[in-house]
Amino acid sequence: MKPTLVLVGRPNVGKSTLFNRLTRTRDALVADMPGLTRDRHYGIGRGGNKPYLVVDTGGFEPTAREGIVAEMARQAESAIAEADALLFIVDGRVGLTPHDKQIADRLRRSGRPIFLAVNKGEGANRAMLAAEFHELACGEPYVISSAHGDGVTALLNLVLDTF
Ligand code: GDP
Ligand code: MG
Repeated sequence: MKPTLVLVGRPNVGKSTLFNRLTRTRDALVADMPGLTRDRHYGIGRGGNKPYLVVDTGGFEPTAREGIVAEMARQAESAIAEADALLFIVDGRVGLTPHDKQIADRLRRSGRPIFLAVNKGEGANRAMLAAEFHELACGEPYVISSAHGDGVTALLNLVLDTF
């Protein structure tokens, strides 16, 4: 069985960009418009010799009750239920937000293994960025750049090594 890795996080943090890199396709819709990816989106990738399934989700808004945002949240909830591991993506340029903390609480309650990726970390001070996101209590933050590829293979190998 391929492990299922589920990408979760606020809109616009770079989930679809990471999905594309992990699946080496341009299938996931990447855009500047927050919340464009509304449905779950599946792809297959390979790290070394290990295949994995990766799921892209739309923006995650745990408190929304109706409308598109709520539907996106339902999609994310379903995806979490399918996850062997959660890749929690945050935006290193924007910094830590209250919404990130809400998502972190929800993800921790799921009991699934969480890997915290601080994206958009190209050119940043990695140690400082990692320190900022420590308080999410989702394990060691890994600074990556989905757009440039920095740290992505290392993080992927780390995740796959747990299966
Ligand atoms: P999603 O809403 O979480 O799926 O985010 P997207 O993948 O659609 O990306 C949102 C925006 O962030 C786009 O303009 C991407 O080009 C940009 N982006 C994604 N990854 C990176 C990165 O590593 N560095 C920078 N600087 N921008 C990124
Ligand atoms: Mg997206």
